[in-house]
Amino acid sequence: MKNTLGQIHIYTGNGKGKTTAGLGLCIRALGAGLKIGLIFFDKGGNFYAERKVLDKLKKIYPKKFFYQAFGEVRMQKNKGFRFQNTPADLAQAQLGLKQALKLLNQKFDLIILDEINTTVKTGLLELKDLQNIIDAKQKNTELVLTGRYCPKKIISQADLITEMKDIKHYAMKGVSVRPGIDY
Ligand code: ATP
Ligand code: MG
Repeated sequence: MKNTLGQIHIYTGNGKGKTTAGLGLCIRALGAGLKIGLIFFDKGGNFYAERKVLDKLKKIYPKKFFYQAFGEVRMQKNKGFRFQNTPADLAQAQLGLKQALKLLNQKFDLIILDEINTTVKTGLLELKDLQNIIDAKQKNTELVLTGRYCPKKIISQADLITEMKDIKHYAMKGVSVRPGIDY
């Protein structure tokens, strides 16, 4: 078998580690000189600590690293997490989809679409949108799709599927989300 790029990865499941696996792969790929495109879906707001580093990487490697985040803010002060989709949430998802398709049409070695798997379950995108993404992938582009609830039809088309299994999570004993560890 040849060792060229072009495989489809899926990081899914209820356990912790999907987004951070995608970010880890970015670091490894950058080290190897690959050209990377990273898009976050449904991740509005500026409280994700990794963004500070990604902004720096974008400046250090302008030709090798591109990233963009889409989504409205879901965490509301004193109200908790907002689950219902607003028109603005849907519009952001469409913009993210458009950008993902644009990157897939360009020459990238690795494209990571964070939380895209979840968007079908949450009603932000449709299964056909995910299918369009897979169909748009160029032969030599490695594609990584992360997020819970990956649709079976998408799973069946992947070359690598890792399911993060929730065996134990500190949230169950009341440890709340911590910057630098959970976001
Ligand atoms: P990470 O971003 O840490 O790699 P993830 O991408 O696998 O986690 P998501 O499903 O995107 O996890 O959920 C994001 C948030 O939910 C993170 O703050 C994470 O710590 C938390 N989380 C992940 N899995 C669990 C779980 N099984 N129980 C409670 N919280 C969880
Ligand atoms: Mg995640």
